[in-house]
Amino acid sequence: MLRYLEPFRAKRIRNQKRMIAKARRAASLLFEQPCNQTYYIDLNGINRPLATWKDVFNARDTFAHRYYDHLRGCSCWMCGNPRKYYNSPTIQERRAYESARNQFEEQGLRFKAWRFSKSKS
Ligand SMILES: [Zn+2]
Repeated sequence: MLRYLEPFRAKRIRNQKRMIAKARRAASLLFEQPCNQTYYIDLNGINRPLATWKDVFNARDTFAHRYYDHLRGCSCWMCGNPRKYYNSPTIQERRAYESARNQFEEQGLRFKAWRFSKSKS
């Protein structure tokens, strides 16, 4: 099977744009509309009121570019690292496992499963 391998940099750029857009959507819940009692801190560190729609979009943009790389606000048992809470593999580990298994199967080889995590004993 022929697959398209996306260059790493292209993937990084695409994901960065995707996360900025996601952060902007999250920001639209924080900064909904112009309001004189709400303030935001712009990129120069100055407190500004959300007086006009221009300020609102400015605030959303500022938020998006400041927080796109670390949007998650918590690491509770639902959001956090599954290994920490259930001693189960993370998404990346499961992906790597599936990929390895598929490669073995494409070659017609037997795949011996490995242990994901250290046993506690
Ligand atoms: Zn959580």
